[in-house]
Amino acid sequence: MALFGRERVEYKTLEQVRVMRRAGLVVADVLAAVRAAARPGTTTADLDAVAAAVIADAGATSNFLGYEGFPATICTSVNDEVIHGIPGSRVLAVGDVVSVDAGAVVDGWHGDSATSFVLGADGPLAPGAAGDAGGDPADDALVRATEAAMWAGIAALATGRRLGDVGTAVETAVELAGAGGAELGIVEEYVGHGIGTAMHQPPDVLNYRTSDRGMRLRPGMCLCIEPMITRGSGATRELEDGWTVVTADGSRAAHWEHSVAILEGGISVLTARDGGAERLGALGVDVVLLD
Ligand code: MG
Ligand code: MG
Repeated sequence: MALFGRERVEYKTLEQVRVMRRAGLVVADVLAAVRAAARPGTTTADLDAVAAAVIADAGATSNFLGYEGFPATICTSVNDEVIHGIPGSRVLAVGDVVSVDAGAVVDGWHGDSATSFVLGADGPLAPGAAGDAGGDPADDALVRATEAAMWAGIAALATGRRLGDVGTAVETAVELAGAGGAELGIVEEYVGHGIGTAMHQPPDVLNYRTSDRGMRLRPGMCLCIEPMITRGSGATRELEDGWTVVTADGSRAAHWEHSVAILEGGISVLTARDGGAERLGALGVDVVLLD
């Protein structure tokens, strides 16, 4: 999304965050259903239909459909597509890097989350399975590095003091992942954001280090942490459809995202079924469980 200026942050009460948790769980269900449905031969429109059905069954509504004219329920971005890909007739194949971004609204409160995977013969490949099972191990490394960078950024909401600590954590994680020789790029033209009564709110959440450490992290903030990482340069361009963002150099990209609440007692990952307990626990961060 585009960069915000220094506008006012919407601070949420615990009760409001509890409603956002309900939206977050719908989004978690959407992404789980889409991952389960993804096979070689399915189209991205098929995945969109799966997502729409899950949202309707939950009694929620889509925040993507109609957003500035966006024509679908999810974004499906394949291979060199980074974000904002429009579902359609594209047929998925073994070895594709597929990123799915989804959102939902419950009682006026928004959730937003994204996942990426390398597609194998039977569906998304488990970490480390690329190679014999189809798919390029370097693509698997890209997907894992992006996910790890997201969790590092989320952890910084608990261990850090200022918003800029997120970008520092994300960039550090990407550097660590690239230390094995892989060239990874951070997309800087699109960033994370606040979320609440709208999908996109201030503040911007950068995925890279800056000299400005940014505003203080405070309870009541709800933020989307969403690194977009490439196997080449971080430069992007938009296709003529007015939506799809691709890497300028044609390299493959991955995108992971969660909506996260900062509460008095710690953080809670609203779009993760376990609240982020497993992945953040591994990083030494305890989470607040809302259900
Ligand atoms: Mg998103
Ligand atoms: Mg987002």
